[in-house]
Amino acid sequence: MSIFEDFEVQFFFAKNKQLFARCPCRRALPHLHEFDEASAHHILCHMLGHLLDIKAGQPTLNDSNATISAINQDGLEDELRYVYNDLQNPQLKAARRVDGNVDPGDRPEFRNFGPELQDCYGADARAELMAEAIRAYLLDPNYLKTLAPNVAARIRAAVNPNPEVNRILQFN
Ligand SMILES: [Zn+2]
Repeated sequence: MSIFEDFEVQFFFAKNKQLFARCPCRRALPHLHEFDEASAHHILCHMLGHLLDIKAGQPTLNDSNATISAINQDGLEDELRYVYNDLQNPQLKAARRVDGNVDPGDRPEFRNFGPELQDCYGADARAELMAEAIRAYLLDPNYLKTLAPNVAARIRAAVNPNPEVNRILQFN
């Protein structure tokens, strides 16, 4: 079975109950039918981002010294955090609903919204950063390639040569 076939079902398997337990999108999965179509699609793409991070990742240690799999983020933190804030900062989102040209540089509260403010720390925070970047790449490739070109290149380098995923999905 491909990882993309009914992939959201995988999050309900008992062995996967602890996967991304702190992820805000994961907590929304049982209520997906309550969201509008676009929001539900965003949530599923974020969860697909988590799966790709694991499937295309390398072994690394989490904060409990357990081995996990994740795409290497060395040197990418600034871009990853810029994208996460740009897509998730609630005050920035609210301001943009009034004026679409609002920029994160306009006000201090429009910056520095990270996974830590969603109760995700350490390896959990890094997983959120990458899942959100992959969601952005899936939904709007030019957005990610423009704002975070090094992140986009790292995702391509991890996913595209990987035989477990590249027959189903490749990033340009
Ligand atoms: Zn997540």
